[in-house]
Amino acid sequence: MLIDPGMKVICPKCLHNKIWSLKDGGFRCAKCRQTFSDPRARIRITKSKLCLVIQEFLLEHSTNTILSRVAISKYMLLKILTLLRAAITQDIPDVFEGTVEVDETYLGGQWKNKRLAVKANLANAKRGRGTPKQAVFGILCRNGKVWADLIDSVEAKQLQPGILRQVKKGSTVFSDTWRGYTGIAAKGYVHRLVKHSKDSYVTNGNHINGLEGFWGYLKRKLAAKGGIRQLRLHLYLGEYVWRYNHRHLNLKEQQKYLSKLLNKYIRYG
Ligand SMILES: [Zn+2]
Repeated sequence: MLIDPGMKVICPKCLHNKIWSLKDGGFRCAKCRQTFSDPRARIRITKSKLCLVIQEFLLEHSTNTILSRVAISKYMLLKILTLLRAAITQDIPDVFEGTVEVDETYLGGQWKNKRLAVKANLANAKRGRGTPKQAVFGILCRNGKVWADLIDSVEAKQLQPGILRQVKKGSTVFSDTWRGYTGIAAKGYVHRLVKHSKDSYVTNGNHINGLEGFWGYLKRKLAAKGGIRQLRLHLYLGEYVWRYNHRHLNLKEQQKYLSKLLNKYIRYG
């Protein structure tokens, strides 16, 4: 049985998060096929060094900068950074309620493994927003938190399960008029349609500006990275969703939060 991503189990070998649970109580990675009993990755590092790495990560310092400040091998650093991103990606916000905005967008055009991206997403080109890219679906709760995931297409069967999972029934859902959102009202939501307009100032709350703001933030951050391989894109999406959701915490608070989160994923020594 494929286990729930909320279970916080990732492969200790390749850090993938699609994991099968086995009858004997163990686990098998759906990607690299590794079987394991303890899903925590083994890390040979002291807690104080790990704390430093987390701080450097939060400050968005480059790998080379971190290596110049923390006495750690490059291999270990990359492993910890991937582990951090994997843990963050699984740290999904609680179910939203109240008023939410939903929207999809496309990322990329500059991915290092662009051919793979193009091949996998040829169907997405239909919506007429330029070259085939990776589609992303997002939900923003007007209390300020966001949830986002990569999707294979922008059709209803890809979009609506995300809404059902992440938004409490009875909530008000703002979306544009794309057909992928048709039928949301019949599933127990108050559905409000937004017409895309150039007006940046909307007074009646009838907009999806919050989510558009997040898309802008995400795209600026990814562009600054200068290209991310398609296979790792979900980790970076998770990272920026997390950073956005925790932007009101100060550095110390964020550091404490991530140390605690990471402890569920690692064994020291
Ligand atoms: Zn694996």
